[in-house]
Amino acid sequence: MTTNGKGSERTSVQVALRIKPLTNDDVNFLSSRSQRQVITTNSASPNSIIVQGEKKQQFSYDYVFGPESTQEEVYTNAIVKLVENFLDGYNVTILAYGQTSSGKTHTMGTADNSSISSDSKGIIPRAMETLFTTLNSMQCKNQKFCIKVSFIEIYNEDLIDLLGEGDMESRSQVTIREDSKGTILWNGLQEIKVNSVDDVISHLARGSLNRQVGATEMNSKSSRSHAIFSVIMSQQKFVGSSTPTPTAIRPATPSRLADSKRIARSSSNLNLRMSRRFDEGDWVTVTSKFHFVDLAGSERLKRTSAVGERAKEGISINGGLLALGNVISALGDPNKAKHVTHVPYRDSKLTRLLQDSLGGNAKTLMIACISSSESNLNETINTLKYANRARNIKNSISINQEENGWNDLEHLQSLVLKLRNEIKTLKASLNSSSTNGSSTGSSTNGTNSCRNSCYNSSNITTDVNGKSNTEIEMLEEQLIYLQRSYSELSQKASDSFQVAVEPVIEEYEKLISSLESQLALTRAALIHTENLIKDQDLKLDYIEEINLQYKNLINDLRNNISQLIERESTNEHYIKDLELKLDNNFKEHNLDKNLINDLKLKLSQLKINNLNSESYIKDLESRLELSEKQLIEINKTVERLEIKLRNKEDNYNELKEKFDLAENDQEKNLLLNELNNHEEKLILSSIAPGTLSLKDEQDRLIISSLEIKLFELQKTHEKTIFYQLN
Ligand code: ADP
Ligand code: MG
Repeated sequence: MTTNGKGSERTSVQVALRIKPLTNDDVNFLSSRSQRQVITTNSASPNSIIVQGEKKQQFSYDYVFGPESTQEEVYTNAIVKLVENFLDGYNVTILAYGQTSSGKTHTMGTADNSSISSDSKGIIPRAMETLFTTLNSMQCKNQKFCIKVSFIEIYNEDLIDLLGEGDMESRSQVTIREDSKGTILWNGLQEIKVNSVDDVISHLARGSLNRQVGATEMNSKSSRSHAIFSVIMSQQKFVGSSTPTPTAIRPATPSRLADSKRIARSSSNLNLRMSRRFDEGDWVTVTSKFHFVDLAGSERLKRTSAVGERAKEGISINGGLLALGNVISALGDPNKAKHVTHVPYRDSKLTRLLQDSLGGNAKTLMIACISSSESNLNETINTLKYANRARNIKNSISINQEENGWNDLEHLQSLVLKLRNEIKTLKASLNSSSTNGSSTGSSTNGTNSCRNSCYNSSNITTDVNGKSNTEIEMLEEQLIYLQRSYSELSQKASDSFQVAVEPVIEEYEKLISSLESQLALTRAALIHTENLIKDQDLKLDYIEEINLQYKNLINDLRNNISQLIERESTNEHYIKDLELKLDNNFKEHNLDKNLINDLKLKLSQLKINNLNSESYIKDLESRLELSEKQLIEINKTVERLEIKLRNKEDNYNELKEKFDLAENDQEKNLLLNELNNHEEKLILSSIAPGTLSLKDEQDRLIISSLEIKLFELQKTHEKTIFYQLN
């Protein structure tokens, strides 16, 4: 904060970011993808956030309050200091900005009432508690203050007094005026005196009930208007002459002691018109204004699908916010600020009302409210950018104090009373001096102070030293007369001025106000049209982009088609190949079929052959069996014959022995004959077995040939069975 030579300080608009947590409504109505958290806070750099959108973006602010932050944290960290500034006599403005349902009203407490839980209380009730606790503290007991509240709504570029009694028509019209010093004055607005927090809350609740709310798709109780709740405080402050009297300073909080010194310091910088010093010091009237601004939703008109009256509201809401954006740009963009001499405050009622708060004489805090879920990403980024620009706005702030002066009748009265007392004291001291025959130094000081402090002191006898009591009485009378005539005069003057000028001013104000309304509406309509054109342009761009995408798609499709054609031709070749193969297979199949038929034929033949050969084999076997039987018979016969032969041989040998032993020839002849016969028989018998063995040999040959045939037949049979199986 820097202090310029004229007693004002340069300070930047501060920005706090508040991230709303997912509410039950969000969880019930948003898809899980839309609920994805896209804003992350960073504990290493607590006042910056990262947006995880299409691209990663980082933003920094004066304060960042994450989804878990409480109302209490927001208040103690960002607001308490501003309430102290307000008590010091600075104008303060807190603006809540953000799309519908992002938590503006919740944070500000604009709709709070007496039944709200202490944890959920917003900024307004908390600030009021601090304010009244401080003012009611012992240290401020001797201090005079007056607090008034007002509640105004800007709806469709109309200013509505939310605390006004009766119906809308009967209420006086609120107009905006700028005085010769450039201060913005809100005329016709009820300012209601309040004495406690409860008073404030009851007026706040009554006013917020009057606020225009309507249903849109985005929020069932969406605020469709901007609302400004204002607290106006005027304090009679003692600033001391050289050494401030400790009891007269309001030391509410530890930091306030330091602040009070600063006030004393900065007040010495003030260009005071006239110093009227008493022994006690200087009294000043400090007037400060605290504006709590709850702006309507910043969302684009098209997102609310608003039509008719709602669309008209949307136009003026967006018009106001757009004008606010332009003002912020003009004041906040460091590049623009160098060249821009005109700040478009008059573009909307909103910016006109907030003229002092933006680039003027007020400490300003913007609370940018966002939701951390993906469904609101575009609006969130808009809000973040908007708020970021606001940080560049420089305000020039000073305490709004005025020495209690000549146009303050109340003050004059108290001054006269004071003078009377002084005169009384003087009288008393004179009486004692006349008795003592000398005057005191203190009375000299007292009369000097009286001379210094009286208005038009040259017309009043100032040097009371040595004057008679009658003269003092005259002085007293003169003073009373002066007081009366002054109050009458000032009353008359103000009355006549009021009577003469007020209607004219009112007429002009009405005219100016209606012209401004018209102008603002025309501007809003123009802005709306421009927005529509921008939307159309965006749509056109979008369509062109889509067109381009389609063209690319068509090209891709063409490429795909040519690839498909190519693939089709290769497929055709492949199919032909397959057909050829199929043909060949078919032929092979036919061949196979024929082969199978042949084989079947052969098989059946073989089966027949087999049957034949089986019967043949059986025949052969029976024959073989027969032959074997015969062979056995033959063998038996052979054996018999051999036995016979052996017997014969035995007989022969016997005969031969007999022959050898025979003594005569006859006997020998007889034996010889017998022997020959026997030999013949023997030969015969030997021939017979030989014949038999020949036949036997033949049979054996037949049998072996039959066996060979049988073996071959079996082999053929096996082969056939093998073919059949395969
Ligand atoms: P706006 O005024 O921006 O349209 P509101 O303040 O009405 O939004 O908030 C919308 C809803 O979200 C309300 O029900 C409110 O109670 C809730 N809400 C907003 N901020 C918070 C928060 N920080 N914590 C819990 N609930 C919140
Ligand atoms: Mg709201």
